[in-house]
Amino acid sequence: MSECIFCKIIAGLIPAQKVFENEDMLIIKDINPQAKIHYLLLPKEHYANIIEMTEEQAVKLGKCLKTLSQIANDLGLQGGFRLVSNKGTDARQTVGHLHIHILGGQLLSDKMA
Ligand code: AMP
Ligand code: ZN
Repeated sequence: MSECIFCKIIAGLIPAQKVFENEDMLIIKDINPQAKIHYLLLPKEHYANIIEMTEEQAVKLGKCLKTLSQIANDLGLQGGFRLVSNKGTDARQTVGHLHIHILGGQLLSDKMA
């Protein structure tokens, strides 16, 4: 098992508040929310960031984003939400397993603005 914290969450080795799961992705609540609603989409395959993913992984991620957006809508974010993926240290990426932030409602800091 790699030292990747998100791989450990996906494997069930570290607890997380799961919102949704299918064969390709897991959606969890962010442990340190930056908005009123802050979830993380974790692709189950490990790759560090959007540059490192393969074409096949890109297709899967696109499908996950569509599902995620529908779930967000169904969870009551019809008023709007933003999808954010930080790539690299200059963008303040802190976990090296690609993830998409979904933020709804009022932002609680300027980190994701
Ligand atoms: P980033 O800075 O874009 O790499 O985002 C990483 C996100 O992962 C941050 O918003 C953290 O709060 C979140 N995070 C780190 N560890 C955990 C964890 N164990 N469970 C849920 N969220 C986490
Ligand atoms: Zn990982």
